Amino acid sequence: MSERVIPIISQPLGNLSLPASSASWQEGAALRDTLQRPLRDLRISVTDRCNFRCSYCMPKEIFDNNYTYLPHSSLLTFEEITRTAKSFVALGVEKIRLTGGEPLLRKNLEILIEQLAQLKTANGQSLDITLTTNGSLLTRKASKLKAAGLQRVTVSLDGLDDAVFKRMNDVDFPVSDVLEGIQAAQEAGLGPIKVNMVVKRGTNEQEILPMARYFKGQGIALRFIEYMDVGATNGWRMDEVMPSADVLKVLQQEMTLTPLTPSQTGETAERWGYVNAQGEHVPEWGEIGFISSVTKAFCKDCNRARLTTEGQLYLCLFATQGYDLKSLVRTEHSEENLTRAIAAIWAQRDDRYSALRSTEVPSSKVSGETVAKRKVEMSYIGG
Ligand code: SAM
Ligand code: SF4
Ligand code: SF4
Repeated sequence: MSERVIPIISQPLGNLSLPASSASWQEGAALRDTLQRPLRDLRISVTDRCNFRCSYCMPKEIFDNNYTYLPHSSLLTFEEITRTAKSFVALGVEKIRLTGGEPLLRKNLEILIEQLAQLKTANGQSLDITLTTNGSLLTRKASKLKAAGLQRVTVSLDGLDDAVFKRMNDVDFPVSDVLEGIQAAQEAGLGPIKVNMVVKRGTNEQEILPMARYFKGQGIALRFIEYMDVGATNGWRMDEVMPSADVLKVLQQEMTLTPLTPSQTGETAERWGYVNAQGEHVPEWGEIGFISSVTKAFCKDCNRARLTTEGQLYLCLFATQGYDLKSLVRTEHSEENLTRAIAAIWAQRDDRYSALRSTEVPSSKVSGETVAKRKVEMSYIGG
């Protein structure tokens, strides 16, 4: 007998109701939310499991042997993900990022990538398909992923010093294996590669310069991420956040950097380029990026939607509840109706958590309920 298991921490408290009317959006019309933001970027979480226990994401004390993950039966199948993604693409999505948990732990992920790679935007363009990974399985999987149609990868790495990195991943995973994975990805043509480093003050800020020195010249974009108050389990404290402005100062002690113009609206990272001794920007050396969601909110242009492993649609990384698309996908066989329902959800979106960030716990959107809501975990919603 299969029993539905509800994880205590990461499961949201309920679903938001689907908007009553889904008749407002007309095919071909520009879809905008209430803050006039289009829908361009879909992040799909393919698993809530991970082989790391990064303290800022899945702390070991919570995500231990007693922790209950989603049972396989409650995950969206690859066909359901692809069908849902197709509706998102019809509404303007141009980029799909696979994430998790650790996405490379999902069995046969290449099959999903092959299916997604068949989708085309309204003007016949292929999608930009990318994946965020901790890199642990990249050496083994890079060329298969590329062959399936994956274009790029983002690899998370929080330092080059083994002791620091092992303390952060908390499973004794060595730096060398991740670096090998990055190299395998480069050789497989999964570039331009981005490397994400979460900077936690008091834990790994001494790794900022070594990381920049190492990746400068490799054509890789090294992005420093401010430690965020996502989820409810990482014990986030403002004094552990290292603002991007401080990271930039550290880098400028040793490197000359020049600000670059954003390559697209809604870009999460502020980009900087390396400058040579003659004062010229050298694009081939790679880039530095800053993702400053704590000190510099970028909600104004946020065009991202998130689909969780079990088919909940979240409109913000810091949301407390999602919309149950899985039930809809499983009961609604008309593609047009599914697309209209998603359009109606996006049309009423007003999320801008970072812009409004305060120390208060977000309140519920469910009518009549006054309880404070737990923010959803990063490993559940996908980064
Ligand atoms: N497991 C994959 C990985 O680590 O790349 C994909 C999922 S992970 C949730 C996605 C990204 O979120 C990673 O780059 C990770 O460093 C980042 N992340 C997780 N928790 C965070 C936090 N509290 N603050 C800032 N970034 C965080
Ligand atoms: Fe796993 Fe990625 Fe979270 Fe680290 S950040 S625990 S690798 S999901
Ligand atoms: Fe987008 Fe929410 Fe992040 Fe603002 S806080 S940028 S709305 S995901």
